[in-house]
Amino acid sequence: MNELLNKLVENNKNLTIDGKVAKYIPALGKADPNELGICVADIEGNIYTAGDYNKKFTIQSISKTISLMLAIIDNGIEYVFDRVGMEPTGDAFNSIIKLEIVSPSRPLNPMINAGAIAVSSMIKGNSTDEKFKRLLNFFRKISGNENLGINEEVYLSEKETGDRNRSMAYFMREAGIFTGNVDEILDVYFKQCSIEVDCIDIAKIGLFLANGGRLPSTREQIAGENIARIVKTFMVTCGMYNASGEFAINVGIPAKSGVGGGIMASVPHRMGIGAYGPALDDKGNSIGGCGILKDLSRNFNLSIF
Ligand code: GLN
Repeated sequence: MNELLNKLVENNKNLTIDGKVAKYIPALGKADPNELGICVADIEGNIYTAGDYNKKFTIQSISKTISLMLAIIDNGIEYVFDRVGMEPTGDAFNSIIKLEIVSPSRPLNPMINAGAIAVSSMIKGNSTDEKFKRLLNFFRKISGNENLGINEEVYLSEKETGDRNRSMAYFMREAGIFTGNVDEILDVYFKQCSIEVDCIDIAKIGLFLANGGRLPSTREQIAGENIARIVKTFMVTCGMYNASGEFAINVGIPAKSGVGGGIMASVPHRMGIGAYGPALDDKGNSIGGCGILKDLSRNFNLSIF
């Protein structure tokens, strides 16, 4: 298996030439566009790796799957989906347009920035610090990595430049989607996006979802089976932004990408996959990561459809 993964990394390396690292968060612009890595964590407990699988990157939008689970655990399904919808947008992940033209005004789903900011506002805690600590502990538990923490430089870089997210947050507060201090709500969101991971960490998150919200090692049920199902469904319909339809046809695996270059994928009852390559396509998905996932899916017949 490791040999096959090595081959897939090699075969897809040339794709990275056509991608670009995200620059709108200045600190992300420092990533090396040639990097490409993969990890498969299967339900039997095997871990297979290749390429730059141990390079650290920020989790970015992949965090939206995890904050959604905690927000549902904290508030219940009804509360969350009264405020955030369940439909794909067909727009870019940071688009603001539908907030105004959809009535009543609410973000269309929790995988786009507006929806994820609303979800982060629902995490329980007496202070911003406590909210983020609870979220970070939840990340640590699910990934089995007690050492997860944030990349301070990326966090500060996004905090300083994230005016589009800031404007969406103000818009949503005005529309009554949440109340409270916008900067504090965004602080939780920016911090969760800046959590540093490698391919193994996100493969394990994918495995946790593949295993119905149970830790594969201890069988501890951390999120209800129904919550894991909801998250995997969002990954299919909205996880790859406005390329989700194409990805579902070409790869057919629930997946969530982030502009740090990560893709977390979950093959129900079988495995979690973590891919990393910071060179992104024009939709903001790792170009090499998508290539590897497509090949992997064909090789092992992983499409759920
Ligand atoms: N932190 C990033 C943002 O809000 C996450 C976006 C992403 O990974 N697509 O813009």
